[in-house]
Amino acid sequence: STAAVDRSVRTPLPVLGRDVTVPLVTGGEVTYAALDYAASAPALQRVWDDVAAYAPYYGSVHRGAGYLSQLSTDLFENARRTVAEFLDCRTGDQVVFTRSTTDSLNLLATALPEDCEVFVFETEHHASLLPWRGARVTCLDAPDSPRAAVTALERALADRDPYGTALVCVTGASNVTGELWPVRELAAAAHAHGARIVLDAAQLAPHHPVSVRDLDVDWVVFSGHKLYAPFGSGVLAGRADWLRAAEPYLAGGGASRKVTRGADGGVDVEWHEGAARHEAGSPNVIGAYAIASACKALTEAGFEALAAREEALVRVVRDGLADVPGVRFLSLFGDEAPRVGVLSFVVEGWNSSHFAAALSAEYGIGVRDGLFCAHPLLRRLLGGDGRAQGECGAPEAASGEKSLNAIRVSFGAGTPDEHVERFVRAVR
Ligand code: PMP
Repeated sequence: STAAVDRSVRTPLPVLGRDVTVPLVTGGEVTYAALDYAASAPALQRVWDDVAAYAPYYGSVHRGAGYLSQLSTDLFENARRTVAEFLDCRTGDQVVFTRSTTDSLNLLATALPEDCEVFVFETEHHASLLPWRGARVTCLDAPDSPRAAVTALERALADRDPYGTALVCVTGASNVTGELWPVRELAAAAHAHGARIVLDAAQLAPHHPVSVRDLDVDWVVFSGHKLYAPFGSGVLAGRADWLRAAEPYLAGGGASRKVTRGADGGVDVEWHEGAARHEAGSPNVIGAYAIASACKALTEAGFEALAAREEALVRVVRDGLADVPGVRFLSLFGDEAPRVGVLSFVVEGWNSSHFAAALSAEYGIGVRDGLFCAHPLLRRLLGGDGRAQGECGAPEAASGEKSLNAIRVSFGAGTPDEHVERFVRAVR
């Protein structure tokens, strides 16, 4: 292969795990090529260092009188401010720390006003498709261009009851194709029709700046573990009104301002109104601190440089595999559409799971195979119709439906040239 990374484009963001070696089935061992950033990115060295420096000092937040409790409270609340700055939030917006993107969207789902309609595209991750239990959900067909997405949304919103509330949930970058969605235009369409919009930035935030103000979205959600911070922490940021009006996501200490014995012999409670309302229990202080550290590191490195390098790596993969017969990349908006460092593909005549297993066993490369928690999209891309059966993939699923399957390679800050070059060589 002639695949080679443009070495003039670099980013100074080392990640953990650079020296991990794994055994090869063919004998010997090799450094592990982590090319599954879209599932979970390795932590930045800087995040690890910041957390290690803070770890001896951490204490319970919001309640302790001791010095370390107060220090931790300050760091936790500073982390909230850092995230608000990172997302360019409006005055009055709330940043709630959650466990993940999935958790954030489930929280928002509990805060929907009564009779709120929800609009999603079938192309979304399950975390965006499924939390809206109890609401009327309209699922729109996969569009074939960003423009078509906006038109489809406008049409769907125009048909709804103009006096009812509505929420649009849309991804900023697809976890399957990596393609960027026209968030600003979708937000404008939503607002023009009296709807609100939540941006699933799980795949976007690690790669591009996300400005709540500039995109004019009502809420943004993302996960720490895809943003080069550890597992177990996530963010829901945006408008305070629905969150203030909602029942607390979890009931318990921290969310409650005043608890009394009720006149009826039960227990009465007054809930907090700010972010604490939805953060009952002892929060994940280290997780929040780690997210804030990652936000700072990414901002300092500069998204322009990060994106330029990723584009160079995407080009290496595409050019390196362009003449390989049977390799088909998956996309909705066309092969040349702007995307983050996420590419999915199938190889004719190959079971994707076997192919991914061979990349691991023979080359020490970690990619993901499967349906990427986006079953309707995979059916659309591989089966021709979002509701139809597919051709590719593993044996019949238990349901009798033939399961669909693809391979996803994804990368970002800290990915060495060699990992991507090895991947191209291995596929060839
Ligand atoms: N949305 C998108 C676009 C994602 O890629 C993912 C993770 N694959 C999620 C939501 C869910 O994130 P988490 O598993 O961290 O809750």
